[in-house]
Amino acid sequence: MGWKPEYEINRKLREAENPALRTKRLESAKTSQEKNREARKEYMKAYYAANRDRYLAHARRYREEDPEVTRRKDAEQHAKHREKRLQQGRDWYQKNKEKAAAYGKQYFAKNKDLFNAHQSKRRARKNGAGGQYTKQDVQDLLRLQRGCCAICTCRLVKRHVDHVVPLSKGGSNGRENIQLLCQTCNQKKHARDPIEHMQSLGFLI
Ligand SMILES: [Zn+2]
Repeated sequence: MGWKPEYEINRKLREAENPALRTKRLESAKTSQEKNREARKEYMKAYYAANRDRYLAHARRYREEDPEVTRRKDAEQHAKHREKRLQQGRDWYQKNKEKAAAYGKQYFAKNKDLFNAHQSKRRARKNGAGGQYTKQDVQDLLRLQRGCCAICTCRLVKRHVDHVVPLSKGGSNGRENIQLLCQTCNQKKHARDPIEHMQSLGFLI
C-alpha cells in the first residue's frame, strides 16, 4: 500500500462537501508541526548541551588560529547587521527596562571602585593633579579602616572615596590622599570648605 493520487482527489471531494474536515486537517497538521518544532528545538538544545565543550573548544581554536580573520569577520557582521542589532537592543530595553536597570546597578556595584578611580583620574587630569589610586588601593584602605568611615567611624555601607585635600585645591589623586567616608560625612565635607572642615575635625593642621 502506498499513497495514490486518488486519495488526494477523494479527500478534496470530501472536504468540498464538508469544509469542517479541511479546517480540522489543517489544524492537526499545524499542531503536529508545532509539536515537532518543539521536539526538534529540545533535541538541538540537548545536543548542544551535551557537546558544549566541544563546540566552545572548536570556536576558541578557530579564533586562536586566525585572530585577524575572526576580527575582520566580526567587524563585517557587526557592520552588516548594525542597524538590526541596535534596534534589537532598543526593543529589548523597552521590554525589559527593570531588568536592564538591575543589570546596570549590579554591574556598577561590582565595578564601583574601578569606575570611581576612572572618574577621579579624569578630574585629576583636568586639575593637573598627579597620582593615580587604583581599585586595589580602595580595597586596602577598606581593610586598613576596618570597614569604617575615616571620620565618624560608623560601619561603611556605602563607601565614598574622598580626596583628603580636594583635587580642586591641588590635592593629589594618589593613594596617599584618599580616604573612605560614609555618605553623611562625605556630604558634610562637600558642603563646607573641605580643608577647614577637616581641620575642624582635627585631621589636618
Ligand atoms: Zn562618617
